[in-house]
Amino acid sequence: MTARVLDGRALAADLRRDLADRVARLATTSAGRTPRLAIFRNGGSPAAAMYAAGLERVAKGIGLETSTVEEPTAALLGRVAEANRDPTVAGIVVAYPLEDPEGAQRVIELIVPDKDVDGATPTNAGRLLRGEPAFVPATALAVIALIEAHGVRVAGRRAVIVGRSAVVGRPVASLLLARDATVVICHRATPDLAVETRRAELLVAAAGVAGLITRDMLDPSAIVIDCGINTAGDGVIRGDVDPAVADVVAAMTPVPGGVGPVTPMMVLRQTVESAERLAGATGRS
Ligand code: NDP
Repeated sequence: MTARVLDGRALAADLRRDLADRVARLATTSAGRTPRLAIFRNGGSPAAAMYAAGLERVAKGIGLETSTVEEPTAALLGRVAEANRDPTVAGIVVAYPLEDPEGAQRVIELIVPDKDVDGATPTNAGRLLRGEPAFVPATALAVIALIEAHGVRVAGRRAVIVGRSAVVGRPVASLLLARDATVVICHRATPDLAVETRRAELLVAAAGVAGLITRDMLDPSAIVIDCGINTAGDGVIRGDVDPAVADVVAAMTPVPGGVGPVTPMMVLRQTVESAERLAGATGRS
């Protein structure tokens, strides 16, 4: 492997230390309370259960309180409304998928935007698209955190994003655009993906297809951020980028150990920002 490794585990550890300090400071300010992250789920999806459990674990690790509510959608709506009003709740997260897509949409739309620490609401999506301060989907923020932590220049560079979902591709595009990249977004109807990816100075893969991006599809100067978490029957987690790409490009995130560990830290960072605002300590950063 010749690519510089953009290590997400080390970055997550740095973020954990910083956030733990901020939570400890919040607890000592007179207006401050130990902030709480409220997690909502239903439907029994193993992925949602894993996400909720992972968030609880990292939140506790920085001293945040958590509460996880698992109820049918009708009851969940009432509990989200309570969390909206509860001054001890700094952040609200829904672990997807819920039991029904229509119910999920109603739950999301109910979350008050200032506690929407995973950037799920249409209000925050709109703010982000308009280039205004917003809470942002955590995976997209993790992409930016990895880029910035490793000193990768974005301004003026050609960024190619593979994937246009509301949780990864689109918010990554908005964040890179806000940092003066020239952004290209690819999807299934892109006629020749390789033509686009070969022109990438910065490539963000968020397609959900294991090994979609191969070494012949990239320029040697490319910096590659792989959001993919793909599991097959063998239980091995694979990214959207073929690991052999690391032999030819300039820098690359590993899978696992790249975007994955940084993502929950971004939910926590936004929760701490919300708590600081609720405590009147600082504004949103
Ligand atoms: P979605 O399935 O919602 O979106 C996938 C996107 O990729 C779509 O826009 C789709 O295009 C595009 N796409 C799929 N196949 C191709 C292809 N062959 N060529 C070009 N474009 C393609 O996935 P998500 O955005 O939710 O997730 C993407 C990946 O990121 C997954 O592996 C997921 O597990 C991972 N992920 C990782 C997280 C983390 O914390 N690291 C968190 C969230 C997701 P179209 O719109 O045309 O269908």
